[in-house]
Amino acid sequence: MNIRYKSTRNSDAAVTASQAILKGLADDGGLFVPEQIPKLPVSVDELKGMSYQETAYTVMKEFLADFTEEELKDCIRKAYDSKFDTEEIAPLVKADGIYYLELFHGATIAFKDMALSILPHLLTTSAKKNQVQNEIVILTATSGDTGKAAMAGFADVEGTRIIVFYPKNGVSRVQELQMLTQKGRNVDVAAIHGNFDQAQSGVKAMFENKKLAEELAKKGYQFSSANSINIGRLVPQVVYYVYAYAKLLENEQIQSGEEINVVVPTGNFGNILAAYYAKQMGIPIRKLICASNENKVLFDFFQTGTYDKKHREFVLTSSPSMDILISSNLERLIYQIAGCDDGKNTELMNALKNEGVYQITEDMKAGLQDFEAGYATEEQTAATIREVYEKTGYVMDTHTAVAARVCREYQERTGDTVKCVAVSTASPFKFVKSVMTAIDGKYSSKDEFELLEELKRLSGTELPDAVKEILDADILHTLECDAGQMEQTVKALLNL
Ligand SMILES: *Cc1c(COP(=O)(O)O)cnc(C)c1O
Repeated sequence: MNIRYKSTRNSDAAVTASQAILKGLADDGGLFVPEQIPKLPVSVDELKGMSYQETAYTVMKEFLADFTEEELKDCIRKAYDSKFDTEEIAPLVKADGIYYLELFHGATIAFKDMALSILPHLLTTSAKKNQVQNEIVILTATSGDTGKAAMAGFADVEGTRIIVFYPKNGVSRVQELQMLTQKGRNVDVAAIHGNFDQAQSGVKAMFENKKLAEELAKKGYQFSSANSINIGRLVPQVVYYVYAYAKLLENEQIQSGEEINVVVPTGNFGNILAAYYAKQMGIPIRKLICASNENKVLFDFFQTGTYDKKHREFVLTSSPSMDILISSNLERLIYQIAGCDDGKNTELMNALKNEGVYQITEDMKAGLQDFEAGYATEEQTAATIREVYEKTGYVMDTHTAVAARVCREYQERTGDTVKCVAVSTASPFKFVKSVMTAIDGKYSSKDEFELLEELKRLSGTELPDAVKEILDADILHTLECDAGQMEQTVKALLNL
């Protein structure tokens, strides 16, 4: 099947996978979606025993129809190599009855590495396939993890530049240092005086700015995105859900065809959307459980059918990568449950932009039956880290704890006993202060660097390379700007 991609705001024109990856966002501001979700080309039993790389090829070739076998295998080989600290790439660890799918074994110890270690290769391959001569400028907003993962992925990649914006006071110290110490002659990062939503809106506005695109083209540049609005981020994320199911089968934790639940700590809705695609490909997932922190705009949406970012305060939490009120990938789900009606989707997205709120129809609500939602308060998140540690010795990060808590709450509320995979999105070392304070209040007065040693001792795991690297690296970036000055900043960096 030769799948093409359409914009969620204009179903008329379709582009190839490589064109969609190059553009990132459609010209009309919509997101690219596959015309249909492909079915798995093999049975789940045939997936047993496949390596991560083999699973990645089996899944991704269905979505990236215009890549040759050689091109795609080459991208996969370069991405999923010794940058990961385990050959399994995405191991499953059972603790207290839940299967944790650990997606933090890559270079920057958060799940963004799963997609961002392959995106640069998909992008440069796409550029070659489409005879692109321009230098590609990756413009990215980050709530903390995408930024570093993208900088690491694109550093010194020929034909690319990368500019990252992050909220000045909205990331952990480890996250910030990871970005500010990134080497590479083509990488830049700026702290904005604002929150993630402002960073994301600023980046989106630049993508939609036709005049800016012309100025760029004159200088031999074009924009693309490393955010999860890029289909080249989403497709690699489908892989680990397929892989996790196959591993459960292989390890005789489930029978062939047995349903599982998946709970995902959610911010921009990219990770859980990938799980939804995995389900549509044929993986027996009963419920996709969307877990939010105190920024629970998605929880409220699943309860009521109203998406309302206007009547709420943005709060900074101990799970900063989920401190998001505009979950951009939800647009892909909205489009799908609207029966792929581009007009209806555009109307709702304009309402969100102009009024900060929209409401879906009763018909559309029926399309949400595969989803469940929950949220965890700061106290519940911390208590979950402590309880699981005390009971089993397993230490999880704050984002994963949100998922664990929501999973337990869902099981108790519904009596659903289906086995549950909780997506573990970051290493506890990345959020060491919050994690250690959750385990014992006595740690609250210590600095992050002392706590890294404590966590190492307490969890019995090595300090990850990603942490060792920043301990005595030089700060290379100091740029800051107001949220309203992102365009000027980009122009200055590119000498436009
Ligand atoms: C990005 C991120 C999330 C949220 O993922 P989305 O795909 O944006 O929903 C959760 N946890 C961590 C650690 C992250 O970096």
